[in-house]
Formats: sequence, C-alpha cells, structure tokens
Amino acid sequence: MARRKSTVQIGVTGLGKREELADGVFINTHYRGCTPGAIYTEEGIVLVDAPLIPQQAMDWREQIEEEFPGQPFLYMINTDHHRGHALGNQYFLPVTVVAHERAHKEMSGYTENFKDRVRNSFKREPDIQAQFGDIIIVPPDITFTNRAKIIRGSREIDLIFVGGHTPATSLVWLPEEEICFVGDILWVDQHPYMAQGNTLEWLAALELIRDLGAKVLVPGHGPVCEPDATHRVAEYIVFMRGRVRDYYREGKTKNEAKSGLVSEMVEWFPVPPERKAKIESQIKSGINRVYREIQREEEEAATAAETGDDDDNDGDDD
Ligand SMILES: [Zn+2]
Repeated sequence: MARRKSTVQIGVTGLGKREELADGVFINTHYRGCTPGAIYTEEGIVLVDAPLIPQQAMDWREQIEEEFPGQPFLYMINTDHHRGHALGNQYFLPVTVVAHERAHKEMSGYTENFKDRVRNSFKREPDIQAQFGDIIIVPPDITFTNRAKIIRGSREIDLIFVGGHTPATSLVWLPEEEICFVGDILWVDQHPYMAQGNTLEWLAALELIRDLGAKVLVPGHGPVCEPDATHRVAEYIVFMRGRVRDYYREGKTKNEAKSGLVSEMVEWFPVPPERKAKIESQIKSGINRVYREIQREEEEAATAAETGDDDDNDGDDD
C-alpha cells in the first residue's frame, strides 16, 4: 500500500525502485520531471506520463518490463503537454499516446527551437545534456476533450479533463482502486507552476479531486499523498488571487504586482537556495497570468454593474 513520504525530491538523477500502490499499479518517485505510473491490464500496460531524462525513461521502461515480462505497452497517457510529462514518450514506442486535444496542438508546435531550449536547460549538467541528441516528439495519436474511458480486461481508467494548470491538464482516475493521478494540479511542499494556468479552473479541479473519493493521489511530481493535501495549494492560489486583486484595485500595473508580491508568495513553500532564482521567476510568471485573469474579472464585473466607465489600463504585456 501507499506509504507517505515527507521528502520532496527535486533534481534527482537516480534510478530508484518503483513502488506498488495497488495490485498492478506502479509509480516511481525517483525521476526528475514527473512521477510516472504503470497500470497492468490483462491486455497490456497503460502508462501515465513519461520521465523527461532519457536514461530515466529507459530505466522506467526496463523496470516495467521486469515487472510485467512480455506485456505490450497499450497506451501512454500524458496528463499535460509539458516536457516533464510528455517528452519521454519516444522511449515507450510503439505505444499509442493519449492526451487532451489541446496537448496535441501544443506538442505539434514543438519545433527545433523547442528541442534546443530543452538541451540548453541542461547546460550545467553535461552528462544529462548529452542524452538529448535525438529528440523525437510523439504527440497524442488519440485525443479527447472532456472525458474518456479506457477499459482493458478488468481495469477501468477514466480520463478527466480539468484544465487549471494548463489548458490540457487531465486526471487519470482508477475508480476501483481509488487512486488518482492528478498531474500538475497538485503540488506538495512546492510552488505550483502557474505560467499557463487558469486559477478558477484550477480551484475547481482541486475540489473535483476532493469529491472523487480517492484514497491515494499521485501528484505530477514527488511522492503520493491523500486528498487533504489539496487544501494548501488551493489556499496558495486563493491568496495569490486576492493579493493580485488588491494591487489591481490600487491601480498598480502588472509589473508592480509581480515585483511586489513575489516575496510574499515565496514564503509559502520551502525553496532550496540553488533554485531560488528559478522559482522566483516562475512565481512571477504565475502572478503575470493571474493579473490578466483578475483584470478580466474586474472589467467584466464593472461592465455588469454598468458603471459605464471603461477603465483604460495600460497593457504591459510580456
Ligand atoms: Zn505541467
């Protein structure tokens, strides 16, 4: 059964052992980029997300083959289109990739430039960078927009689009086992990545997760947790929305909100010193996103109230 671990593992490069959450349902929390899953069915294996780093993706493949010798890989479900979840698809071919329709659109737009950015992001880790010679983007072969269900053998797997973190973010729910892979909707002891977010959708997604009746949640990164863990990230988002709204109502610009609020937000979760600059810039992208959302909400409210005055806020888009 699921064990609860307290350590957050960021920047890990090891090849640690898998853990079994329920009969035939495995995850591995030792990889960077995501916590992937492998679900046994009588007809083959259904995978959830692919490790980013090629050596780790190949390790995961070997671990699954060791656990289920001779079983074909049926589907690879990507919970979103980000590199941490979907770039490793190529290491599980031949497999049918399944994701939200928007993930297909995003991944089809991954050009040489995107591949160079991936390689560049590992410039301080030449051993890892060297593994990214041959990047093959494998966008979904099957897409869905709202919900889909995979039934193979006696296993039932629900795909539930929630958005929030990205316009493609979807949950993978095993109703029988009461296990939910929640992708990057849930971050435990870490700052959520909000640069492509929609916070109202995100809060609704957290509520939906609580209502599922799951015993175990598998966040996109890090160890498993219980549904209670959704509260903290919801509070974080509500707090950020409130503070951005304060700034907006005081007539402050988006850039003022970003530089003014980053120190308040950074307090919420532990940040290792070597990741401080990265996390702060990530938080600022989130505030940037939330500012636009709040601006839209406030403008709509103003129109609805028929104040007649359309507030001409200068758009310093970046
Ligand atoms: Zn993501």
